[in-house]
Amino acid sequence: MPREINKVLVANRGEIAIRVFRACKELGIRTVAIYSKEDKYSLFRTKADESYLIGEKRKPIEAYLSMDEIIKLALKKGVDAIHPGYGFLSENPVFARKCKEAGIEFIGPTSETIENLGDKIKSKLLAKSVGVPTIPGVDKPIVSEKEAVAFANQYGYPIILKAAAGGGGRGMRIVHCEEDISREFESAKNEAKKAFGIDDIFIEKYLEEPKHIEVQILGDKYGNIVHLFERDCSIQRRHQKIVEFAPAIAISDELRQKICNDALRIGKAVNYESAGTAEFLVDKHGNHYFIEMNPRIQVEHTVTEMVTGIDIVQSQLQIAKGYALDSDKINIPSQESIKTRGYSIQCRVTTEDPFNNFAPDTGRLDIYRTSSGFGIRLDGGNGYTGSVISPYYDSLLVKIISWSRTFEDAARKAVRSIKETNIKGVKTNDAFLINVLNHEKFLSGHCDTHFIDQTPELFD
Ligand code: ADP
Repeated sequence: MPREINKVLVANRGEIAIRVFRACKELGIRTVAIYSKEDKYSLFRTKADESYLIGEKRKPIEAYLSMDEIIKLALKKGVDAIHPGYGFLSENPVFARKCKEAGIEFIGPTSETIENLGDKIKSKLLAKSVGVPTIPGVDKPIVSEKEAVAFANQYGYPIILKAAAGGGGRGMRIVHCEEDISREFESAKNEAKKAFGIDDIFIEKYLEEPKHIEVQILGDKYGNIVHLFERDCSIQRRHQKIVEFAPAIAISDELRQKICNDALRIGKAVNYESAGTAEFLVDKHGNHYFIEMNPRIQVEHTVTEMVTGIDIVQSQLQIAKGYALDSDKINIPSQESIKTRGYSIQCRVTTEDPFNNFAPDTGRLDIYRTSSGFGIRLDGGNGYTGSVISPYYDSLLVKIISWSRTFEDAARKAVRSIKETNIKGVKTNDAFLINVLNHEKFLSGHCDTHFIDQTPELFD
């Protein structure tokens, strides 16, 4: 039976907090923001019906990680459900469990699912067990560099060392020869410990020239699961995505179908609930391999919404209330009912200087003017004229998302929007994004994950 959700707290900030507030408002749900003292003047908190200072004595990031304080506040304010957004507590099974124990609905998968899928080694094992291909690798944390040497001797260099708990490209090291193993092993371990508190490291064969293709899935509380097709997220720098699009151009329909079906297989194996993403790499021969599952909403969910017409965040809220996918609240009667139309491209406008090694810039935005128009959706963060970009949080300023019937036109619309955008006072990556969007190889849809590193003219 559907449960009432009348008030939602978003345990996050910036762009994704605003995105969730919007979906809540459209469904008549009251919204609650939390903010750190550093975010006192941030735009997102003004977009909620209520907002409360949290973690006053804590460091800027820790404010959004203070589980008990957030849950206490939620109970005090009569909150029915918590949306964790991405990053922060979104992949923390302890938080999901604590919400449940407090009688608050966690908008996402169950804590058991997060536990099983959040760890890259465990999720690869799960994928393998249901017949989904994975990259050759070890299936438990390595304890010494000797294991890495033995693996490389068997499979050849390069290999990649990865943090089991990894995310955001951290805790990954590519190793090209035996002499580097010891150093890279130590540094991956240290980075993982610092970033995730867990220093389990595993090894995989490093694929040359792969494309990153991922599949959006959506499941309700009754075991019904669908996929919303794929996104191409190969335009990356240091393993972090910068431009994403849907659908992927460079893969055949047959391969698309295989990858989407494999994503469903993993989802079904865990009775996946809410929105999630199965990530794959595709090598130059067209072989696909599952790499990890992200049990949360992703930054690039927008392009899937644009081509399928399905509001993923609203769907998450309706699923949390207990509605089935085929109910008239969600309106997905079957897999076959989901179609894609046209192309959508998302550009992450960040306050980073592409001509100075993407160094983050901070300070006051003297001018902040964005540009919409036909085929442009803007999912903004905290930017407005006069706002201050602080050094404490991620550098995403606004997501410019274009849609059109052809990929080329979607790219042209995005370029037009970026050119009309006027941001002064803080450096952004706008000129770099335009160079990517105008590049012949990008327009062909055939870029692999090394495109940015191997294309110096993007920095002209
Ligand atoms: P994170 O969770 O930190 O985002 P992922 O496992 O999703 O890390 O990988 C991020 C990116 O790193 C991939 O999109 C790809 O570009 C690169 N990568 C990861 N594993 C491999 C691999 N085995 N071979 C080649 N590239 C890889």
